Amino acid sequence: MENEIRRITSERGNDLLLVNGHKFRCIRKRADGYVRWRCCKKQCKSTVLMTIDDLIIENTSEHNHPVDPIQKIDRQVLRESCKRKATSIIYLPDQ
Ligand SMILES: [Zn+2]
Repeated sequence: MENEIRRITSERGNDLLLVNGHKFRCIRKRADGYVRWRCCKKQCKSTVLMTIDDLIIENTSEHNHPVDPIQKIDRQVLRESCKRKATSIIYLPDQ
């Protein structure tokens, strides 16, 4: 099954990863560019290792909790799209 991966920004401005509805936070950036992400739930030990091409090459364990309600995630994704919109205005070429 394909993983659905999205990058979102938390309310505190941190980078988060959304994998199949589960939120991950960055815990370690390796010298080779690979990034280790860990589930945001404190009681959950699930981690993933992602390449610089956004491919998940390692998924350590299953989550021991259900996914967050979709409304909560949607709010963060909305924040992300607002931020992108603002960024694109900055990079518009001079007319
Ligand atoms: Zn989890």
